[in-house]
Amino acid sequence: MADKIFEIIKAEEKRQSEGLELIPSENYVSNAVLRAMGSVLTNKYSEGYPGKRYYGGNENIDEIETLAIERAKQLFHADHANVQPHSGANANEAVYFAWCQPGDTILAMSLPAGGHLTHGSPVTRSAKIYNFVGYGVTDDGDIDYDELEQLAKEHHPRVILVGYSAFMKIPDFDRVKQIADMVSQEADQEILLMADMAHVAGLIAGGVHPNPLEHGFHVMTSTTHKTLRGPRGGLIVSMGKVGNPLKKCDRTLENIPTLIDRAVFPGTQGGPLEHVIAAKAVAFEEDLQPEFQDYARMIVENAHVLAEELKRNGFILQGNGTENHLILVNVKESFGIDGKLYEYALDRVGLTLNANALPNDKGAAFRPSGVRLGTPAMTTRGLGVDEMIKIAEWMRRVADLCVKAENEDGLDQYENELKEIREEVRELALGFPIPGLDNN
Ligand SMILES: *Cc1c(COP(=O)(O)O)cnc(C)c1O
Repeated sequence: MADKIFEIIKAEEKRQSEGLELIPSENYVSNAVLRAMGSVLTNKYSEGYPGKRYYGGNENIDEIETLAIERAKQLFHADHANVQPHSGANANEAVYFAWCQPGDTILAMSLPAGGHLTHGSPVTRSAKIYNFVGYGVTDDGDIDYDELEQLAKEHHPRVILVGYSAFMKIPDFDRVKQIADMVSQEADQEILLMADMAHVAGLIAGGVHPNPLEHGFHVMTSTTHKTLRGPRGGLIVSMGKVGNPLKKCDRTLENIPTLIDRAVFPGTQGGPLEHVIAAKAVAFEEDLQPEFQDYARMIVENAHVLAEELKRNGFILQGNGTENHLILVNVKESFGIDGKLYEYALDRVGLTLNANALPNDKGAAFRPSGVRLGTPAMTTRGLGVDEMIKIAEWMRRVADLCVKAENEDGLDQYENELKEIREEVRELALGFPIPGLDNN
């Protein structure tokens, strides 16, 4: 096709093939997921839910969405799944909308501690509607459960939310459930226990991370494009009684599945993206295979090895390591450089990651002291322990150049050194092709 867009897509295929993706929220989908997304399903309007649509001609769509729902339920041992959220942010908003009235309090990990923008950052719509209270992390990087308990007693939240985008521990869901039970009795109101597992959902599905729904949590939201390795989108799974989404129901924890369906449509979205829902169904089936458990295990092993190798190379890590797929490096304390300079320099050698603030970061917002990286995408491409060792060495060499360069412009003096590393990265990357392009 002649459209310039297809030329640019080719350029992006090349960029993805020749570099190494260290951003922990990215991944590579299979060719089957790509095909489902690029299908005629995008032509169809299907407002409503399977068997309850506002348009005709939905017999195939109903079958597809039902399969997606059944597979998601199986994957997370849930009573109910809503596969329609267009994104992780939409999934979270729908849950708040399902359960809360304007002004209600939601207790969540604060953004500086590792929480997500959608958990009450003042720049979001949710923060203008609900009253978010933030809990933090301790010096060794775990949730400050004592603070969480104290804030819950003080504020009587309607929702306690456990979720994060930069947190390296396994949460103690049982402890949070105990706190919720106690406060709920005291305040004589039901508290919704919500887990936003956007980052670790694939680890849960792969059996290497506890499932919050099996520890008394009522709702779990997720993205489908991170460790679940599906199309870009959102997902909500929950426990409770599944009712008719077209009928009003009381705001009780038992009715959560129905409240969520109504909050997604018509509450916050219009017609579902059925081509994306089909791709979610394809990904969920892949996630249900035994090989996916091997993948999940390898993500965690790679992250562990990479963390240890980084430490050996002089990097100081938040929480001194990781229990999941995420690593947060304090480059300021390690080498006296800022996260933005380091991100820029790594980009020039084909290693992609993002600058990230650390808890209680003293650096400027656009020049944070850390970088965040992770292993899901590299593990999908088949990189293992040997390659993690190489990546840690490249990262050390680039850090040394940043120290000498002092700033972005200064790096130009080290063009030859950067090029040399760039070639080594490219050579390794080309040995591990991107899965999605297999059958093109
Ligand atoms: C990525 C992420 C989201 C948002 O997902 P989008 O699809 O980008 O809207 C929400 N919560 C957490 C914890 C995340 O990591």
